[in-house]
Amino acid sequence: MNLEPRKPVLVIGGGIAGLTAAVELDDAGCAVILVEKSASLGGQVARLHQYFPKLCPPTCGIEMHLRRIRDNDAITLHTNAEVTEVSGTRGDYCVTVRVGPDYVSEACTACGECVAACPVERPDPFNYGLTKTKAMYLPGGIPYPVRYAIDRKVCPPECSACERVCRYGAVNLRAAADWRKYHVSAVIAATGWEPYDAGRIEYLGFGRCANVVTNVMVERMAAADGPTGGVIRRPSDGRPPRSVAFVQCAGSRDENHLPYCSSVCCAATIKQISYLQAQQPETAITVFYIDLRTPGRLEEFRNRVLPGANVQLVKGKVARVEEKAESGNIAVTAEDVMSGRKATSEFDLVVLATGMAPRTQGLPAVFEADEYGFLASGDGDGLLSAGCVHRPGEVSSSVRNATAAALKAYQAARRSGHHA
Ligand SMILES: Cc1cc2nc3c(=O)[nH]c(=O)nc-3n(C[C@H](O)[C@H](O)[C@H](O)COP(=O)(O)OP(=O)(O)OC[C@H]3O[C@@H](n4cnc5c(N)ncnc54)[C@H](O)[C@@H]3O)c2cc1C
Repeated sequence: MNLEPRKPVLVIGGGIAGLTAAVELDDAGCAVILVEKSASLGGQVARLHQYFPKLCPPTCGIEMHLRRIRDNDAITLHTNAEVTEVSGTRGDYCVTVRVGPDYVSEACTACGECVAACPVERPDPFNYGLTKTKAMYLPGGIPYPVRYAIDRKVCPPECSACERVCRYGAVNLRAAADWRKYHVSAVIAATGWEPYDAGRIEYLGFGRCANVVTNVMVERMAAADGPTGGVIRRPSDGRPPRSVAFVQCAGSRDENHLPYCSSVCCAATIKQISYLQAQQPETAITVFYIDLRTPGRLEEFRNRVLPGANVQLVKGKVARVEEKAESGNIAVTAEDVMSGRKATSEFDLVVLATGMAPRTQGLPAVFEADEYGFLASGDGDGLLSAGCVHRPGEVSSSVRNATAAALKAYQAARRSGHHA
């Protein structure tokens, strides 16, 4: 009886979870179609400065996967692409993928002449709007494929400067989308997470006070290729902060926003304290928290970082955040539940530890979701999920559940081979 998998598996999302599922399936001898919405692979991890608990750079892990995907005939990669339709049943799904339009082709050498010719700028979403790029840009982080991309939404009408200047004929502003159909045995959704919109937590001042930022913005500031060249600075005047408050559970475990715990924000704050400790050890840090949740090996990480830092831990919820007009400083009012006193203190910079919301926009509505929008593991029907769109968590848990989803998909693929 031949039980070799015949039909490929579709993996949606090229973050750490989708990449893991793809390479694990490839390792087991199963072909993969990998579809990534953006112009480059790597997902949110590519935007981090370092990974806890080892504090290694984001290239660690992602590069290894990219090496296995490059020049691998068994993994068909579509970037700048979306899955628009999934029909069929377990073992035999028909999927439609919209690819492109690819305005910049494989002929691109990333020479950058198109960027020099491009006349418009736009806020860079990779750096959460803290910097700008031209409409023609090289995707941030670890660009793969290494090729420029273009944000057509901001191109002036009739402009074709990039097309005219490209000596390799790599730019085609009239390119159209291409539609592909595949028959696959299983589908793994690994579309990840997005930061909860801090502007919706009105009392915490994001968007209203220049020196209130979010944890994901701090990751970009701390990165050497980020908006501040690796130094954490106040947005209002560019000065390194002498005092920083971290507000934990910003919008999380709150019925009005994210009712659940994203499980990584406490460890992410401890990691960001280690960035400050390395850059500006004299900076006074206060952490307002409900509970500091650092289970398992993250406990050791916490014990390593916190005692050496200039940190005050205040158990209590922040009630109000106000900007001081003259200094741009931020007054934070919170109750200290240990003393029962409510107090207001002033800081140079406030960091909101916002949680993760599942990213499901644009996915065909065939996946089962829970009350918060996270997708079910889907073992029964071969419509699986992996990584943070399944459950918020750190990289190691995303990699573990992606490996489990790959195994389930492999089983579906083997059965489809048997019945084919
Ligand atoms: C502030 C902060 C700091 C963190 N620091 C750490 C840390 O130090 N160590 C650690 O272990 N974890 C950390 N994490 C958690 C870590 O970021 C996640 O575990 C990891 O990003 C999960 O990867 P993922 O592949 O599930 O999702 P993502 O990284 O979100 O990747 C999903 C991919 O899917 C793509 N996509 C989305 N929608 C579609 C679609 N419709 N079609 C096709 N593609 C799509 C996206 O473009 C993206 O490339 C941190 C989290 C936060 C909030």
